[in-house]
Amino acid sequence: MKRPEKGASELSHTLAIEPDTRGYRSCSHSATHIEFCAPGYIHYARVVCDRCGRFVDWLPKPSTVIRQKMIARRLALLGRSSELNPWEHRFVKDVSEKRKLSPRQEQKVDEIWSSHQKELGL
Ligand SMILES: [Zn+2]
Repeated sequence: MKRPEKGASELSHTLAIEPDTRGYRSCSHSATHIEFCAPGYIHYARVVCDRCGRFVDWLPKPSTVIRQKMIARRLALLGRSSELNPWEHRFVKDVSEKRKLSPRQEQKVDEIWSSHQKELGL
């Protein structure tokens, strides 16, 4: 008698552990609420679906949002300035294209801003 092929049994096992979602309608997470994380936790808050209770997204700290907006504004103003040296100009151009800056890059933006703030009349 021929043994069942190993490949076939592995496949059925894989299929068996897939969650059975038949009969369930997928949730669009149209209504959500915010759950704040414990102080000191890496994340500030999470957005959770009211209907299915699933995690939707992380919410950044308000101070982080303000800081990111401030950096973006400074980079926009520095990018238009003719007072920057070639290295500074290149750096501002490079980090302006990034979605997120490292703490060192943020610090460098602050330094360039501080040294040109007066020249820019700000
Ligand atoms: Zn949902």
